[in-house]
Amino acid sequence: MEDIASNIQRVRERIGRAASACGRSESEITLVAVTKTFSVAMISEAIVAGLIHLGENRVQEAEAKIRSFSGRADLEWHLVGHLQSNKARRAVELFHVVHAVDSVKLGAKLSEACIETGKSLSVLIQVDLGEEPTKFGAPPDLVRELASEIGRLPGLRLDGLMTIPPFFPDPDQTRPFFAELHEIRDRLESESPGSLGKKHLSMGMSHDFEIAIAEGATIVRIGTAIFGSRS
Ligand SMILES: *Cc1c(COP(=O)(O)O)cnc(C)c1O
Repeated sequence: MEDIASNIQRVRERIGRAASACGRSESEITLVAVTKTFSVAMISEAIVAGLIHLGENRVQEAEAKIRSFSGRADLEWHLVGHLQSNKARRAVELFHVVHAVDSVKLGAKLSEACIETGKSLSVLIQVDLGEEPTKFGAPPDLVRELASEIGRLPGLRLDGLMTIPPFFPDPDQTRPFFAELHEIRDRLESESPGSLGKKHLSMGMSHDFEIAIAEGATIVRIGTAIFGSRS
């Protein structure tokens, strides 16, 4: 059995140390507990331990879980995984933040769903920084155009950027990817101030979040360090 409350305590301490090591405040960093594959009972433990930001990566899996916490209006649910356009409506009904918007088409679907449901949604643009293009995420040179188009869509608040770097056994090797996302954000903000809303950098997972914080992460997405292995 994982002791979820102590794991959260340890993760918080590590976030605090990583932040102060680079002169940042822990309060600038939002911890999103990624609950995919974990049970409602385990999620409840994390909530009891004080977490309110929870992340899932698939709409279908998230649906029943999120509904089971519908009495908790204070929770913020983050969709951290890839979203297909045909699930945009469900996503808008369930989530408060969508981290992986990577096309105008998906943005437009989300916007439409926001208008229909009277909701507003915070979105981040997923940027693909891998040496080899992966299936998901916008290439860096398209981010500016995407930001300007998504920024115009009613119902959506563009609040920053997100990335999932390639996996390296040595987390220090992810550093250049995190630094690059930071640079892309700063460039965009200096060209068109205010275009990225809260200017979030959603980057860093269980094995590399300290590096991500050193490189400016404002949201870290953490699963296994809190809930144990998913295998
Ligand atoms: C699963 C997942 C995480 C959490 O990963 P851990 O290594 O378990 O911390 C973060 N971000 C995304 C997009 C994920 O799918």
